[in-house]
Amino acid sequence: AKVTRLGPSPTGSPHVGLLYVATIDRSVAANSGGTYLLRIEDTDQAREVEGALDQFERAFRYFSVEPDEGEGNGDYGPYFQSQRSPIYLSYVRDLLRQDKAYLCFATKEELAEITQAQQKAKLPTGYYGRWAIWRDASEDDIRAKLAAGAPFVVRFRTPTRVGSRVRFVDAIRGPLSHEANRNDVVILKSSDQEPRLPTYHFAHAVDDHLMRVNLVIRGEEWISSVPLHLQLFEALGFEPPEYAHIAPLTKQDGGGKRKLSKRKDPESSVDFYIEAGYPAPPVQYYLRGLANGRLAELPLAEALAAPIRLEDCGVAGPLVDVVKLEDISADYVASLSGETILAEVAGWAATHDPELVAVLNDERDLALRALAVERDGVENPRKDLRKWSDFRSAYGFFFPRLFPLVSDPADERLGSLDPALVRTLAAEFADTYQDVDDGQEWFGQIRDLAARHGFAKNAKEYKKDPDAYPGSIREAAQVIRVALTGSTRSPDLFSVARALGTDEVLRRVRALT
Ligand code: GLU
Repeated sequence: AKVTRLGPSPTGSPHVGLLYVATIDRSVAANSGGTYLLRIEDTDQAREVEGALDQFERAFRYFSVEPDEGEGNGDYGPYFQSQRSPIYLSYVRDLLRQDKAYLCFATKEELAEITQAQQKAKLPTGYYGRWAIWRDASEDDIRAKLAAGAPFVVRFRTPTRVGSRVRFVDAIRGPLSHEANRNDVVILKSSDQEPRLPTYHFAHAVDDHLMRVNLVIRGEEWISSVPLHLQLFEALGFEPPEYAHIAPLTKQDGGGKRKLSKRKDPESSVDFYIEAGYPAPPVQYYLRGLANGRLAELPLAEALAAPIRLEDCGVAGPLVDVVKLEDISADYVASLSGETILAEVAGWAATHDPELVAVLNDERDLALRALAVERDGVENPRKDLRKWSDFRSAYGFFFPRLFPLVSDPADERLGSLDPALVRTLAAEFADTYQDVDDGQEWFGQIRDLAARHGFAKNAKEYKKDPDAYPGSIREAAQVIRVALTGSTRSPDLFSVARALGTDEVLRRVRALT
Protein backbone atom coordinates (compact mmCIF):
# COMPACT_ATOMS: atom_id res chain seq x y z
CA ALA A 1 0.00 0.00 0.00
CA LYS A 2 1.29 3.42 -0.91
CA VAL A 3 1.30 6.26 1.57
CA THR A 4 1.49 9.53 -0.33
CA ARG A 5 1.44 13.07 0.92
CA LEU A 6 0.80 16.59 -0.20
CA GLY A 7 3.01 19.22 1.42
CA PRO A 8 1.72 22.64 0.48
CA SER A 9 3.14 25.82 1.96
CA PRO A 10 0.44 28.27 3.02
CA THR A 11 1.87 31.14 1.02
CA GLY A 12 -1.18 32.17 -0.98
CA SER A 13 -4.16 30.91 -2.88
CA PRO A 14 -3.60 27.41 -4.17
CA HIS A 15 -2.06 26.86 -7.60
CA VAL A 16 -3.84 24.51 -9.96
CA GLY A 17 -0.63 22.45 -9.95
CA LEU A 18 -1.33 21.66 -6.31
CA LEU A 19 -4.75 20.36 -7.24
CA TYR A 20 -3.14 18.38 -10.03
CA VAL A 21 -0.62 16.71 -7.73
CA ALA A 22 -3.32 16.15 -5.10
CA THR A 23 -5.38 14.34 -7.72
CA ILE A 24 -2.45 12.07 -8.50
CA ASP A 25 -1.54 11.54 -4.82
CA ARG A 26 -5.05 10.59 -3.98
CA SER A 27 -5.60 8.26 -6.89
CA VAL A 28 -2.29 6.42 -6.53
CA ALA A 29 -2.78 5.94 -2.79
CA ALA A 30 -6.40 4.84 -3.09
CA ASN A 31 -5.63 2.47 -5.89
CA SER A 32 -3.01 0.70 -3.81
CA GLY A 33 -5.26 0.52 -0.76
CA GLY A 34 -3.05 3.11 0.93
CA THR A 35 -3.35 6.57 2.43
CA TYR A 36 -2.96 10.10 1.15
CA LEU A 37 -2.09 12.60 3.83
CA LEU A 38 -1.82 16.35 4.08
CA ARG A 39 1.09 18.03 5.80
CA ILE A 40 1.28 21.79 6.00
CA GLU A 41 4.82 22.97 5.26
CA ASP A 42 4.78 26.22 7.16
CA THR A 43 8.43 26.59 8.02
CA ASP A 44 8.80 29.86 6.17
CA GLN A 45 6.70 31.97 8.44
CA ALA A 46 7.65 35.22 6.76
CA ARG A 47 5.98 34.11 3.54
CA GLU A 48 2.84 32.85 5.18
CA VAL A 49 -0.49 34.31 4.08
CA GLU A 50 -3.59 34.53 6.26
CA GLY A 51 -6.47 32.49 5.04
CA ALA A 52 -4.38 30.24 2.82
CA LEU A 53 -5.37 27.17 4.83
CA ASP A 54 -9.06 27.88 4.37
CA GLN A 55 -8.46 28.24 0.67
CA PHE A 56 -6.72 24.85 0.54
CA GLU A 57 -9.60 23.28 2.37
CA ARG A 58 -12.16 24.85 0.09
CA ALA A 59 -10.23 23.73 -2.99
CA PHE A 60 -9.86 20.14 -1.75
CA ARG A 61 -13.53 19.96 -0.86
CA TYR A 62 -14.73 21.50 -4.13
CA PHE A 63 -12.67 19.14 -6.24
CA SER A 64 -13.06 16.09 -4.01
CA VAL A 65 -9.40 15.59 -3.23
CA GLU A 66 -9.67 15.80 0.52
CA PRO A 67 -6.82 14.02 2.26
CA ASP A 68 -7.46 10.72 4.06
CA GLU A 69 -5.26 11.89 6.89
CA GLY A 70 -4.12 15.20 8.33
CA GLU A 71 -4.47 17.53 11.31
CA GLY A 72 -7.29 16.35 13.54
CA ASN A 73 -7.57 13.10 11.63
CA GLY A 74 -4.48 10.96 12.00
CA ASP A 75 -1.99 9.36 14.36
CA TYR A 76 1.19 10.77 12.87
CA GLY A 77 0.80 14.44 13.70
CA PRO A 78 1.20 17.21 14.32
CA TYR A 79 0.72 17.76 10.60
CA PHE A 80 1.88 21.36 10.75
CA GLN A 81 5.64 21.54 10.43
CA SER A 82 5.70 24.65 12.60
CA GLN A 83 4.48 22.46 15.47
CA ARG A 84 7.11 19.77 14.99
CA SER A 85 10.11 21.75 16.14
CA PRO A 86 10.99 19.42 19.07
CA ILE A 87 10.91 16.44 16.73
CA TYR A 88 13.33 18.02 14.26
CA LEU A 89 15.60 19.16 17.11
CA SER A 90 15.92 15.67 18.49
CA TYR A 91 17.06 14.37 15.10
CA VAL A 92 19.42 17.29 14.64
CA ARG A 93 20.96 16.42 18.03
CA ASP A 94 21.35 12.83 16.93
CA LEU A 95 23.27 13.89 13.86
CA LEU A 96 25.39 16.33 15.88
CA ARG A 97 26.29 13.60 18.37
CA GLN A 98 27.35 11.35 15.54
CA ASP A 99 29.32 14.20 13.97
CA LYS A 100 27.14 13.97 10.86
CA ALA A 101 26.22 17.62 11.35
CA TYR A 102 27.90 20.67 12.79
CA LEU A 103 27.25 24.21 13.89
CA CYS A 104 28.04 26.91 11.41
CA PHE A 105 28.54 30.52 12.49
CA ALA A 106 29.33 31.95 9.09
CA THR A 107 27.80 35.40 8.72
CA LYS A 108 25.82 36.61 5.72
CA GLU A 109 28.81 38.70 4.67
CA GLU A 110 31.17 35.75 4.86
CA LEU A 111 28.82 33.63 2.80
CA ALA A 112 28.52 36.36 0.20
CA GLU A 113 32.31 36.60 0.01
CA ILE A 114 32.58 32.85 -0.50
CA THR A 115 30.10 32.97 -3.34
CA GLN A 116 31.91 35.87 -4.96
CA ALA A 117 35.28 34.15 -4.73
CA GLN A 118 33.80 30.99 -6.24
CA GLN A 119 32.24 32.89 -9.09
CA LYS A 120 35.49 34.65 -9.77
CA ALA A 121 37.33 31.34 -9.87
CA LYS A 122 34.55 29.87 -12.06
CA LEU A 123 33.79 27.22 -9.46
CA PRO A 124 30.37 25.89 -8.53
CA THR A 125 28.97 28.00 -5.72
CA GLY A 126 28.14 26.45 -2.39
CA TYR A 127 29.35 25.50 1.03
CA TYR A 128 31.76 22.66 0.34
CA GLY A 129 35.41 21.61 0.48
CA ARG A 130 37.75 24.33 1.63
CA TRP A 131 34.90 26.83 1.44
CA ALA A 132 33.07 25.05 4.23
CA ILE A 133 34.75 27.20 6.82
CA TRP A 134 33.07 25.75 9.92
CA ARG A 135 33.18 22.13 8.86
CA ASP A 136 36.38 21.40 10.73
CA ALA A 137 36.30 24.20 13.27
CA SER A 138 37.95 23.56 16.62
CA GLU A 139 36.00 23.00 19.85
CA ASP A 140 37.48 26.22 21.17
CA ASP A 141 36.28 28.35 18.27
CA ILE A 142 32.80 26.91 18.58
CA ARG A 143 32.68 27.43 22.35
CA ALA A 144 33.83 31.00 21.97
CA LYS A 145 31.06 31.79 19.49
CA LEU A 146 28.45 30.11 21.64
CA ALA A 147 29.65 31.99 24.70
CA ALA A 148 29.37 35.23 22.77
CA GLY A 149 25.79 34.37 21.82
CA ALA A 150 26.49 34.33 18.08
CA PRO A 151 23.63 32.94 16.00
CA PHE A 152 24.29 29.73 14.09
CA VAL A 153 22.71 27.25 11.74
CA VAL A 154 23.23 23.53 11.69
CA ARG A 155 24.74 22.07 8.55
CA PHE A 156 24.82 18.55 7.26
CA ARG A 157 28.32 17.09 7.02
CA THR A 158 28.11 15.78 3.49
CA PRO A 159 29.79 12.42 3.15
CA THR A 160 30.45 12.69 -0.58
CA ARG A 161 33.69 12.79 -2.45
CA VAL A 162 33.55 15.39 -5.18
CA GLY A 163 32.68 14.00 -8.57
CA SER A 164 30.80 10.86 -7.54
CA ARG A 165 27.37 10.11 -8.93
CA VAL A 166 24.11 8.88 -7.47
CA ARG A 167 21.76 6.48 -9.17
CA PHE A 168 18.10 6.20 -8.34
CA VAL A 169 14.88 5.20 -10.01
CA ASP A 170 12.12 7.72 -10.48
CA ALA A 171 8.65 6.16 -10.74
CA ILE A 172 7.87 8.35 -13.75
CA ARG A 173 11.26 8.87 -15.37
CA GLY A 174 12.88 5.51 -14.73
CA PRO A 175 16.56 5.09 -13.79
CA LEU A 176 18.45 8.35 -13.37
CA SER A 177 21.99 9.26 -12.53
CA HIS A 178 22.78 12.61 -10.96
CA GLU A 179 25.92 14.22 -9.70
CA ALA A 180 26.21 13.65 -5.97
CA ASN A 181 25.51 16.51 -3.62
CA ARG A 182 28.66 18.02 -2.22
CA ASN A 183 27.21 20.95 -0.32
CA ASP A 184 27.04 20.99 3.43
CA VAL A 185 23.48 22.22 3.31
CA VAL A 186 21.70 23.89 6.17
CA ILE A 187 19.33 21.51 7.94
CA LEU A 188 18.32 23.72 10.84
CA LYS A 189 17.68 27.41 10.30
CA SER A 190 19.23 30.20 12.30
CA SER A 191 19.25 29.95 16.09
CA ASP A 192 18.07 33.53 16.46
CA GLN A 193 14.56 32.56 15.39
CA GLU A 194 11.90 30.83 17.43
CA PRO A 195 10.62 28.19 16.99
CA ARG A 196 13.73 26.47 15.66
CA LEU A 197 12.71 25.24 12.25
CA PRO A 198 14.32 22.91 9.73
CA THR A 199 14.90 23.53 6.05
CA TYR A 200 12.69 21.83 3.51
CA HIS A 201 15.28 19.10 2.92
CA PHE A 202 15.59 18.02 6.51
CA ALA A 203 11.86 18.25 7.23
CA HIS A 204 11.20 16.15 4.15
CA ALA A 205 13.43 13.34 5.41
CA VAL A 206 12.21 13.42 9.00
CA ASP A 207 8.51 13.89 8.31
CA ASP A 208 8.16 11.51 5.44
CA HIS A 209 9.94 8.86 7.48
CA LEU A 210 7.91 9.42 10.65
CA MET A 211 4.66 9.67 8.72
CA ARG A 212 5.55 6.34 7.02
CA VAL A 213 5.32 7.95 3.57
CA ASN A 214 6.73 5.51 1.03
CA LEU A 215 5.99 7.37 -2.19
CA VAL A 216 6.90 11.02 -2.59
CA ILE A 217 5.10 12.60 -5.53
CA ARG A 218 6.26 16.17 -6.03
CA GLY A 219 7.18 18.78 -8.62
CA GLU A 220 10.12 18.11 -10.89
CA GLU A 221 11.95 21.15 -9.51
CA TRP A 222 12.98 18.86 -6.62
CA ILE A 223 14.59 16.21 -8.75
CA SER A 224 18.04 17.75 -8.43
CA SER A 225 17.70 17.53 -4.64
CA VAL A 226 17.26 13.77 -4.63
CA PRO A 227 21.00 13.07 -4.16
CA LEU A 228 20.99 15.25 -1.05
CA HIS A 229 17.77 13.70 0.20
CA LEU A 230 19.14 10.19 -0.18
CA GLN A 231 22.20 11.24 1.84
CA LEU A 232 19.97 12.60 4.56
CA PHE A 233 17.88 9.45 4.73
CA GLU A 234 21.04 7.41 5.01
CA ALA A 235 22.61 9.60 7.67
CA LEU A 236 19.42 9.41 9.70
CA GLY A 237 19.25 5.64 9.27
CA PHE A 238 15.90 5.81 7.48
CA GLU A 239 14.68 3.84 4.49
CA PRO A 240 14.25 6.33 1.62
CA PRO A 241 10.88 6.58 -0.10
CA GLU A 242 10.17 5.99 -3.74
CA TYR A 243 10.17 9.25 -5.73
CA ALA A 244 7.96 10.39 -8.57
CA HIS A 245 8.68 13.81 -10.05
CA ILE A 246 5.76 15.41 -11.84
CA ALA A 247 6.27 17.66 -14.84
CA PRO A 248 4.77 21.12 -14.32
CA LEU A 249 1.57 22.28 -15.98
CA THR A 250 2.37 24.54 -18.89
CA LYS A 251 0.71 27.05 -21.14
CA GLN A 252 1.01 27.82 -24.82
CA ASP A 253 2.70 31.17 -25.20
CA GLY A 254 3.41 32.37 -28.68
CA GLY A 255 5.42 29.67 -30.43
CA GLY A 256 6.50 27.86 -27.28
CA LYS A 257 5.22 26.71 -23.98
CA ARG A 258 6.11 27.79 -20.49
CA LYS A 259 5.18 26.97 -16.93
CA LEU A 260 1.77 28.23 -15.86
CA SER A 261 2.61 31.38 -14.01
CA LYS A 262 0.88 32.52 -10.88
CA ARG A 263 1.55 36.10 -11.79
CA LYS A 264 0.56 36.06 -15.45
CA ASP A 265 -2.10 33.39 -15.86
CA PRO A 266 -5.38 33.64 -13.98
CA GLU A 267 -6.09 29.99 -14.83
CA SER A 268 -3.10 28.98 -12.71
CA SER A 269 -5.16 29.61 -9.60
CA VAL A 270 -7.64 27.07 -8.26
CA ASP A 271 -9.83 29.97 -7.20
CA PHE A 272 -10.25 30.94 -10.83
CA TYR A 273 -12.27 27.74 -11.38
CA ILE A 274 -14.21 27.97 -8.15
CA GLU A 275 -15.11 31.64 -8.52
CA ALA A 276 -16.32 31.18 -12.10
CA GLY A 277 -18.26 28.10 -11.05
CA TYR A 278 -16.69 25.46 -13.25
CA PRO A 279 -18.39 22.24 -12.27
CA ALA A 280 -15.87 20.01 -10.52
CA PRO A 281 -16.27 16.77 -12.55
CA PRO A 282 -15.09 18.15 -15.91
CA VAL A 283 -12.15 19.88 -14.21
CA GLN A 284 -11.22 16.65 -12.44
CA TYR A 285 -11.60 14.81 -15.70
CA TYR A 286 -9.45 17.31 -17.52
CA LEU A 287 -6.67 17.17 -14.93
CA ARG A 288 -6.72 13.37 -14.98
CA GLY A 289 -6.44 13.47 -18.74
CA LEU A 290 -3.40 15.74 -18.43
CA ALA A 291 -1.78 13.26 -16.05
CA ASN A 292 -2.60 10.15 -18.10
CA GLY A 293 -3.47 10.75 -21.74
CA ARG A 294 -5.40 7.47 -21.98
CA LEU A 295 -7.90 8.77 -19.41
CA ALA A 296 -8.80 11.66 -21.70
CA GLU A 297 -10.10 9.11 -24.17
CA LEU A 298 -12.53 7.52 -21.74
CA PRO A 299 -16.00 8.90 -21.05
CA LEU A 300 -16.04 11.19 -18.06
CA ALA A 301 -17.59 8.88 -15.47
CA GLU A 302 -15.25 6.06 -16.40
CA ALA A 303 -12.18 8.27 -16.36
CA LEU A 304 -13.04 9.60 -12.91
CA ALA A 305 -13.21 6.06 -11.57
CA ALA A 306 -10.07 4.81 -13.33
CA PRO A 307 -6.72 4.85 -11.55
CA ILE A 308 -3.99 7.30 -12.49
CA ARG A 309 -0.79 5.37 -13.11
CA LEU A 310 2.56 6.99 -12.48
CA GLU A 311 4.16 5.07 -15.32
CA ASP A 312 1.65 6.74 -17.66
CA CYS A 313 2.55 10.26 -16.56
CA GLY A 314 4.57 12.17 -19.14
CA VAL A 315 7.92 13.78 -18.55
CA ALA A 316 6.95 16.82 -20.62
CA GLY A 317 4.76 19.41 -18.93
CA PRO A 318 1.15 19.00 -20.11
CA LEU A 319 -0.56 21.98 -21.66
CA VAL A 320 -3.46 23.63 -19.85
CA ASP A 321 -5.98 24.89 -22.37
CA VAL A 322 -9.01 26.56 -20.85
CA VAL A 323 -10.86 26.52 -24.17
CA LYS A 324 -10.58 22.75 -24.27
CA LEU A 325 -11.66 22.49 -20.67
CA GLU A 326 -14.68 24.65 -21.48
CA ASP A 327 -15.68 22.31 -24.30
CA ILE A 328 -15.55 19.37 -21.95
CA SER A 329 -17.45 21.32 -19.37
CA ALA A 330 -20.15 22.39 -21.84
CA ASP A 331 -20.70 18.76 -22.84
CA TYR A 332 -20.90 17.80 -19.22
CA VAL A 333 -23.45 20.52 -18.41
CA ALA A 334 -25.47 19.60 -21.49
CA SER A 335 -25.79 16.09 -20.08
CA LEU A 336 -27.39 17.33 -16.85
CA SER A 337 -31.09 17.80 -16.19
CA GLY A 338 -32.56 21.26 -15.87
CA GLU A 339 -33.27 20.59 -12.20
CA THR A 340 -29.65 19.73 -11.55
CA ILE A 341 -28.32 22.71 -13.45
CA LEU A 342 -30.67 24.98 -11.59
CA ALA A 343 -29.55 23.62 -8.22
CA GLU A 344 -25.90 24.04 -9.19
CA VAL A 345 -26.37 27.56 -10.51
CA ALA A 346 -28.27 28.51 -7.36
CA GLY A 347 -25.49 27.01 -5.25
CA TRP A 348 -22.85 29.00 -7.07
CA ALA A 349 -24.93 32.18 -7.04
CA ALA A 350 -25.48 31.90 -3.28
CA THR A 351 -21.94 33.18 -2.77
CA HIS A 352 -21.39 35.07 -6.01
CA ASP A 353 -24.60 36.61 -7.31
CA PRO A 354 -27.28 37.40 -4.71
CA GLU A 355 -29.58 39.03 -7.27
CA LEU A 356 -29.60 35.86 -9.33
CA VAL A 357 -30.42 33.77 -6.27
CA ALA A 358 -33.49 35.90 -5.59
CA VAL A 359 -34.61 35.69 -9.21
CA LEU A 360 -34.19 31.92 -9.35
CA ASN A 361 -36.11 31.53 -6.11
CA ASP A 362 -39.05 33.53 -7.42
CA GLU A 363 -39.01 32.25 -10.97
CA ARG A 364 -38.21 28.59 -10.66
CA ASP A 365 -40.71 27.49 -13.30
CA LEU A 366 -39.54 30.05 -15.79
CA ALA A 367 -35.95 28.98 -15.12
CA LEU A 368 -36.82 25.36 -15.85
CA ARG A 369 -38.67 26.35 -19.01
CA ALA A 370 -35.70 28.45 -20.08
CA LEU A 371 -33.27 25.61 -19.48
CA ALA A 372 -35.48 23.31 -21.51
CA VAL A 373 -35.33 25.54 -24.58
CA GLU A 374 -33.45 23.81 -27.33
CA ARG A 375 -30.69 26.07 -28.42
CA ASP A 376 -31.21 25.63 -32.16
CA GLY A 377 -30.46 29.24 -32.92
CA VAL A 378 -26.78 28.85 -32.09
CA GLU A 379 -24.27 26.58 -33.72
CA ASN A 380 -23.82 24.23 -30.80
CA PRO A 381 -27.10 23.33 -29.22
CA ARG A 382 -27.12 24.40 -25.60
CA LYS A 383 -23.37 24.52 -25.18
CA ASP A 384 -23.32 28.07 -23.95
CA LEU A 385 -23.28 26.99 -20.32
CA ARG A 386 -19.74 25.98 -19.52
CA LYS A 387 -19.63 27.19 -15.96
CA TRP A 388 -22.29 28.45 -13.60
CA SER A 389 -21.30 32.09 -14.04
CA ASP A 390 -22.35 31.75 -17.70
CA PHE A 391 -25.96 31.40 -16.66
CA ARG A 392 -26.60 35.12 -16.64
CA SER A 393 -25.25 35.72 -20.13
CA ALA A 394 -26.84 32.59 -21.59
CA TYR A 395 -30.22 32.52 -19.84
CA GLY A 396 -30.55 35.82 -18.02
CA PHE A 397 -32.67 37.37 -20.75
CA PHE A 398 -35.54 35.04 -19.94
CA PHE A 399 -36.14 36.75 -16.63
CA PRO A 400 -38.05 40.02 -16.76
CA ARG A 401 -36.16 41.32 -13.76
CA LEU A 402 -32.81 40.78 -15.48
CA PHE A 403 -33.89 41.92 -18.90
CA PRO A 404 -33.57 45.54 -19.98
CA LEU A 405 -36.36 46.13 -22.53
CA VAL A 406 -35.23 47.24 -25.95
CA SER A 407 -37.21 50.39 -26.59
CA ASP A 408 -35.16 52.38 -29.08
CA PRO A 409 -36.17 51.54 -32.68
CA ALA A 410 -32.79 52.91 -33.79
CA ASP A 411 -30.91 50.48 -31.50
CA GLU A 412 -27.87 49.17 -33.36
CA ARG A 413 -28.78 45.56 -32.63
CA LEU A 414 -31.70 46.05 -35.03
CA GLY A 415 -29.40 46.57 -37.97
CA SER A 416 -29.97 49.35 -40.45
CA LEU A 417 -33.75 49.17 -40.70
CA ASP A 418 -35.60 52.45 -40.76
CA PRO A 419 -36.73 53.16 -37.15
CA ALA A 420 -40.23 54.02 -38.35
CA LEU A 421 -40.49 50.64 -40.04
CA VAL A 422 -39.19 48.93 -36.89
CA ARG A 423 -42.00 50.57 -34.91
CA THR A 424 -44.59 49.49 -37.43
CA LEU A 425 -43.34 45.90 -37.53
CA ALA A 426 -43.33 45.66 -33.75
CA ALA A 427 -46.80 47.17 -33.43
CA GLU A 428 -48.31 44.95 -36.09
CA PHE A 429 -46.67 41.84 -34.70
CA ALA A 430 -48.03 42.60 -31.25
CA ASP A 431 -51.51 43.47 -32.46
CA THR A 432 -51.93 40.27 -34.44
CA TYR A 433 -49.89 37.93 -32.20
CA GLN A 434 -51.30 34.44 -31.69
CA ASP A 435 -49.74 32.18 -29.08
CA VAL A 436 -49.95 29.11 -31.31
CA ASP A 437 -48.22 25.89 -30.30
CA ASP A 438 -46.98 24.90 -33.71
CA GLY A 439 -43.56 26.23 -34.61
CA GLN A 440 -44.26 26.54 -38.35
CA GLU A 441 -47.45 28.40 -37.69
CA TRP A 442 -45.73 30.61 -35.15
CA PHE A 443 -43.02 31.61 -37.60
CA GLY A 444 -45.74 32.08 -40.22
CA GLN A 445 -46.69 35.21 -38.32
CA ILE A 446 -43.25 36.68 -38.93
CA ARG A 447 -43.28 35.55 -42.56
CA ASP A 448 -46.63 37.19 -43.20
CA LEU A 449 -45.54 40.34 -41.45
CA ALA A 450 -42.38 40.50 -43.53
CA ALA A 451 -44.25 39.83 -46.76
CA ARG A 452 -46.79 42.58 -46.00
CA HIS A 453 -43.95 45.05 -45.70
CA GLY A 454 -42.17 44.00 -48.84
CA PHE A 455 -39.21 42.09 -47.35
CA ALA A 456 -37.44 39.60 -49.62
CA LYS A 457 -38.32 35.95 -48.95
CA ASN A 458 -34.68 35.02 -48.38
CA ALA A 459 -31.17 36.41 -48.45
CA LYS A 460 -30.54 35.25 -52.00
CA GLU A 461 -33.49 37.07 -53.42
CA TYR A 462 -32.59 40.14 -51.41
CA LYS A 463 -29.00 40.17 -52.67
CA LYS A 464 -30.10 40.06 -56.27
CA ASP A 465 -31.68 43.47 -55.91
CA PRO A 466 -31.06 45.07 -52.51
CA ASP A 467 -32.73 48.32 -53.49
CA ALA A 468 -36.03 46.63 -54.12
CA TYR A 469 -36.55 45.54 -50.50
CA PRO A 470 -36.16 47.00 -47.00
CA GLY A 471 -34.27 43.79 -46.22
CA SER A 472 -34.74 40.05 -46.21
CA ILE A 473 -37.01 38.13 -43.88
CA ARG A 474 -34.01 37.68 -41.62
CA GLU A 475 -33.94 41.38 -40.87
CA ALA A 476 -37.64 41.40 -40.13
CA ALA A 477 -37.27 38.43 -37.78
CA GLN A 478 -34.33 40.17 -36.19
CA VAL A 479 -36.64 42.87 -34.88
CA ILE A 480 -38.64 40.29 -32.98
CA ARG A 481 -35.47 38.45 -31.90
CA VAL A 482 -33.86 41.55 -30.47
CA ALA A 483 -37.09 42.62 -28.79
CA LEU A 484 -37.51 39.21 -27.13
CA THR A 485 -33.90 38.36 -26.29
CA GLY A 486 -31.90 41.56 -26.49
CA SER A 487 -29.49 39.79 -28.78
CA THR A 488 -28.93 39.19 -32.47
CA ARG A 489 -28.12 35.57 -31.73
CA SER A 490 -30.54 33.54 -29.73
CA PRO A 491 -32.05 30.14 -29.22
CA ASP A 492 -35.03 29.18 -31.34
CA LEU A 493 -37.44 32.12 -31.13
CA PHE A 494 -40.59 30.06 -31.01
CA SER A 495 -39.25 28.10 -28.02
CA VAL A 496 -38.21 31.32 -26.35
CA ALA A 497 -41.65 32.81 -26.86
CA ARG A 498 -43.31 29.73 -25.41
CA ALA A 499 -41.06 29.86 -22.36
CA LEU A 500 -41.75 33.57 -21.86
CA GLY A 501 -45.51 33.37 -22.24
CA THR A 502 -47.80 35.65 -24.24
CA ASP A 503 -47.93 38.55 -21.81
CA GLU A 504 -44.19 38.85 -21.62
CA VAL A 505 -43.80 38.47 -25.40
CA LEU A 506 -46.22 41.32 -25.94
CA ARG A 507 -44.63 43.49 -23.27
CA ARG A 508 -41.21 43.11 -24.87
CA VAL A 509 -42.35 43.68 -28.45
CA ARG A 510 -44.52 46.65 -27.48
CA ALA A 511 -41.54 48.31 -25.83
CA LEU A 512 -40.33 48.99 -29.37
CA THR A 513 -43.51 50.68 -30.55
N1 GLU B 1 6.40 22.59 0.47
C1 GLU B 1 6.97 22.10 -0.75
C2 GLU B 1 6.50 22.96 -1.88
O1 GLU B 1 5.48 23.62 -1.73
C3 GLU B 1 6.53 20.68 -0.95
C4 GLU B 1 7.29 19.94 -1.96
C5 GLU B 1 7.07 18.46 -1.73
O2 GLU B 1 5.98 17.98 -2.06
O3 GLU B 1 7.96 17.80 -1.22
O4 GLU B 1 7.12 23.03 -2.91
